[in-house]
Amino acid sequence: MRIGILGGGQLAQMMAQSGAGLGMEFMFLCPDALACAAPYGQHICAPFQDEKASWQLARWAEVVTYEFENVPLDLVSSLEKQVELHPSSGALSVARDRLLEKSRFRELDIPTAEFMPVEGLEELRQAVEIVGLPAILKTRTQGYDGKGQAVIRKIEDIAAAWAQVGGVPCIVESVVRFSRELSIIAVRGRSGEVAFYPLSENYHREGILRLSLSCLNDPLQFQAQRLIQRLLEDMQYVGVLALELFQVGEKLYANEMAPRVHNSGHWTIEGAATSQFENHLRAICGMPLGETGASAAAAMVNLVGRLPDEAAIREIPNATPHFYGKGERPGRKVGHITLIDGGEGARVFAHRVAHLLKLAGEDEGLAQVLNDKQSAQTS
Ligand code: AMP
Repeated sequence: MRIGILGGGQLAQMMAQSGAGLGMEFMFLCPDALACAAPYGQHICAPFQDEKASWQLARWAEVVTYEFENVPLDLVSSLEKQVELHPSSGALSVARDRLLEKSRFRELDIPTAEFMPVEGLEELRQAVEIVGLPAILKTRTQGYDGKGQAVIRKIEDIAAAWAQVGGVPCIVESVVRFSRELSIIAVRGRSGEVAFYPLSENYHREGILRLSLSCLNDPLQFQAQRLIQRLLEDMQYVGVLALELFQVGEKLYANEMAPRVHNSGHWTIEGAATSQFENHLRAICGMPLGETGASAAAAMVNLVGRLPDEAAIREIPNATPHFYGKGERPGRKVGHITLIDGGEGARVFAHRVAHLLKLAGEDEGLAQVLNDKQSAQTS
């Protein structure tokens, strides 16, 4: 099968790595000459707006997909008319716009933070009175890894927050006092078959995901599945969909969805029977989905900005480094490490995760959170 991917970053790269085992070939349309997926297929190095380039992709590929939601919507709509493409432009149009996305959550009875659309400074002042303080201002489109966001703690912060996001159409939402950040990753095939991965518990710093832990047999698993299932059915979705959630008490609130493979699901490469990457490919190609179960706990540590010594990672039992082949730069995701619990017990596992966090250059704070969690579980 010939797969065309819009984008050539690490998500495209990992799709291609897993697709090689299914006998698939890949072509990437990506404007970056140093696209890290390029060694895994053919690379059309051109702007997304280049019509000749997108025509070349559509001619070659049997199925097209994309690796991030900031690809131009009109390109996806136009390709969809020429070639089998998933997830659909309809799903993308909702997922890439925070206002449409949160409104859809509301329509489907999926709980969210209080939110209001905002198009100007005066409107923002009025909206803050309704959603309350503290609040977060988020651009409707183009935000990722905490970019395009400003926290409003007091009335006097409003003007600065509006300036910080660049005065573009936004939503403002109330801050949710959550006990855990979770994500559920699900996959829906062309025939409507659906499968869910175990929840991931996620830790961010400076708006960037640093650590994900798989949550096997979590009490909120079925609640999360019910929420994402509504979205999958509503959008007649095909492919992998990720839904980011906040836990408050025993209730889940949706933060946002991603119409693609997701960073919090990278642990599935070693940690689940079939990885999210393989299942995304299976789904969009109309193949039967693979098993999503996990038999042991897994952790994923992101490598942000710089890569640690590979040998030091390999010294840790059951740890697998994934280096993306990207240049090191502050704030850039350049790799990740997966750790699988080898059955030595929760204490050893937590200790190894803490060691990996240290290698990744994370501060003690995150390791301490894990320690406290582990102590709470064993006490
Ligand atoms: P987002 O880009 O919406 O995924 O936001 C990035 C991170 O900011 C989330 O993973 C949360 O840690 C935090 N965040 C976003 N929205 C809220 C909210 N309404 N309440 C509390 N924290 C939030």
